[in-house]
Amino acid sequence: MDGKARVIFVLGGPGVGKGTQCQKIQEQNEEFVHLSAGELLRQARESGSENGEVIMQCINQGTIVPAEITVDLLRQAMVAHGWEKKRFLVDGFPRNEDNYQKWYDMMEAVEVEYCVFMDCDVDAMAERIKARGSARSDDNPEVFKKRITTYNEQTKPIIDRFSDLGKLRRVDGNLDVDSVYEQMLNILKD
Ligand code: UDP
Ligand code: MG
Repeated sequence: MDGKARVIFVLGGPGVGKGTQCQKIQEQNEEFVHLSAGELLRQARESGSENGEVIMQCINQGTIVPAEITVDLLRQAMVAHGWEKKRFLVDGFPRNEDNYQKWYDMMEAVEVEYCVFMDCDVDAMAERIKARGSARSDDNPEVFKKRITTYNEQTKPIIDRFSDLGKLRRVDGNLDVDSVYEQMLNILKD
């Protein structure tokens, strides 16, 4: 790990389309690697991680997994991709104070460029989750409500912090996929 890894956080409420956008960016722009914190947690659980039980409980209650677990998974994924070779789009993280603190405690040789905030009305997010008809155990109205509460109470303050630090870039997440993508590319140019 000689050089610094460059990281861009992508935050926004559940169902806003973080994964869709980051995936598209990775596919169409070579320098980016998409890492979804939620996806890494689901994979860890499925592959029989010793933390599987706690991960499953948090996901199904819409709460947030202890940060050490998530930061470790993110670090491993970044190492696997080549630490300083790419710009990493880290989707769905940091979601709370614990995530934020542990990231900066545990991650050295990383430059966080900024945080992209996909801002969207809650009704539109609920609609998108319904429309994606996913098999995820947390994509149902009951857990969605809990995820929204967690988002409002714990993630919003983190978004505000990036704003206070001058490190927040906002996109209008209410628009269609292509329009949001266009806004994202505009931001990622610098
Ligand atoms: N999660 C977590 N820490 C993270 C990312 C995700 O604990 O850094 C858990 C949390 O329980 C969350 C769930 O994984 O509700 C699903 O997250 P994901 O980002 O996949 O959902 P999205 O917001 O994209 O719909
Ligand atoms: Mg996602």
